Amino acid sequence: MDTLLKTHNKLEFLPQLHGVLDKSSNFNLSSSKIQNRDFRFGLKKSNNLKRARNLCVKASRSALLELVPETKKENLEFELPIYDPTKGIVVDLAVVGGGPAGLAVAQQVSEAGLSVCSIDPSPKLIWPNNYGVWVDEFEAMDLLDCLDTTWSGAVVYTDDNTKKYLDRPYGRVNRKQLKSKMLQKCISNGVKFHQAKVIKVIHEESKSLLICNDGVTVQAAVVLDATGFSRCLVQYDKPYNPGYQVAYGILAEVEEHPFDVDKMLFMDWRDSHLNNNVELKERNSSIPTFLYAMPFSSTRIFLEETSLVARPGVSMKDIQERMVARLRHLGIKVKSIEEDEHCVIPMGGPLPVLPQRVVGIGGTAGMVHPSTGYMVARTLAAAPIVANSIVRCLGSDRRSLSGDDLSAEVWKDLWPIERRRQREFFCFGMDILLKLDLQGTRRFFNAFFDLEPHYWHGFLSSRLFLPELLFFGFALFSRASNASRIEIMAKGTVPLVKMANNLVQDRD
Ligand SMILES: Cc1cc2nc3c(=O)[nH]c(=O)nc-3n(C[C@H](O)[C@H](O)[C@H](O)COP(=O)(O)OP(=O)(O)OC[C@H]3O[C@@H](n4cnc5c(N)ncnc54)[C@H](O)[C@@H]3O)c2cc1C
Repeated sequence: MDTLLKTHNKLEFLPQLHGVLDKSSNFNLSSSKIQNRDFRFGLKKSNNLKRARNLCVKASRSALLELVPETKKENLEFELPIYDPTKGIVVDLAVVGGGPAGLAVAQQVSEAGLSVCSIDPSPKLIWPNNYGVWVDEFEAMDLLDCLDTTWSGAVVYTDDNTKKYLDRPYGRVNRKQLKSKMLQKCISNGVKFHQAKVIKVIHEESKSLLICNDGVTVQAAVVLDATGFSRCLVQYDKPYNPGYQVAYGILAEVEEHPFDVDKMLFMDWRDSHLNNNVELKERNSSIPTFLYAMPFSSTRIFLEETSLVARPGVSMKDIQERMVARLRHLGIKVKSIEEDEHCVIPMGGPLPVLPQRVVGIGGTAGMVHPSTGYMVARTLAAAPIVANSIVRCLGSDRRSLSGDDLSAEVWKDLWPIERRRQREFFCFGMDILLKLDLQGTRRFFNAFFDLEPHYWHGFLSSRLFLPELLFFGFALFSRASNASRIEIMAKGTVPLVKMANNLVQDRD
């Protein structure tokens, strides 16, 4: 991801060695020192005041980062059956990447009796991301046992005077449980594991050779690239120009917080915390960020300051400064941090070349929701489609289709025309969101969450397809305020024409 950002925009990215940057800076202050500093800045008058305020925010950011523990890498305690390269076996499927997408397909293809090799540099590592999903999405997949906390609903603040209750339960994924469950099933179905990074693929007519960084070659009839946003093998032929969702999150022990523990905070667009900082307030007015929070108790909470989508992405440092100002304003004093998360999600942009020899799923296959950045539920729901397609194509005689023909079938099932059209509409949504400032964003979400649940649930969970998405668009437009309608017409016309063009050109 670090590389990705360096390649596609000039985002500043904090080093993974937490705190190193700050510890060597001038703002290496303990909390008590910061209080003294704040006090001292308070005595200074005149035009130094603005500078002093900025310094305070930076100092506080540094103090917050100092609470971040050394990154702990926790592994699951499984004995994984190891792939034996000396046997020269050609497996039916090699899955590159052991994230949620890759493991879900490995599990399901192996369940059908096919041979599978899963390749990942850290196959036992507990996934690092803090995943949130709507409970109904996991319920539909019989995965309720993989949620560790659920909230009866969610809350959205669009501004200081508007609070909306979303009557839709939300949950946090128990990533340890979900990965354990998938690994367990993979093991009992006979999946073999190889701990390495794939660096290259060579295709022959009916098999492919995967070259790993440890010198081992894995041979497979089908190769699935599930390497997330690193997009290791899947090819793209159009310029890669995504928007970026950038967020900084902490799982923290706090003295207290003002949120209801029965509701998760889906979006808080209030900006009164920036009233004393003109510069930050201006930045937030043009490219806004919101707070997302999962309160686990009155003193334990996951807090994430988030830029929904921007191109180029908002810098991590900027996000952290806004977060510090917000927490201070809300009276949230962080006592300790269990873990933190640097979130950078590429959104929208072109689909990979369709079809191509390597098949894909998840981040590598353009499956992130272009208007929201969500993907876990959608990917887990798509895994059986990809798995069934592979099983069907390999057939009972194990080779009814092979090579490019087989891959073409799988891509067709993953990205049928209805899904491509749906994604085009979501990219249109992203193009509008990219143009909205704070006021426009507030107006948009006021109208969005006033829609019938069928529409906003369906939009967020990728359940609406054309033409229903067009009804969704009209419903949103008719609910919008006059100011919002004018804005949508002014800012949405070019994206609308682009979408219409793409829809006309894309045929089966
Ligand atoms: C911080 C963060 C928070 C997120 N939160 C949410 C959320 O709350 N809800 C939601 O729906 N979505 C969320 N997302 C978006 C998305 O769901 C996740 O990114 C999800 O992890 C993607 O799953 P994946 O299996 O496609 O890829 P990943 O989870 O990224 O897994 C890819 C795997 O491939 C391996 N790999 C990479 N390169 C190679 C190689 N060359 N050879 C072998 N293996 C390789 C990696 O080590 C990794 O294990 C979040 C994303 C991020 C970054």
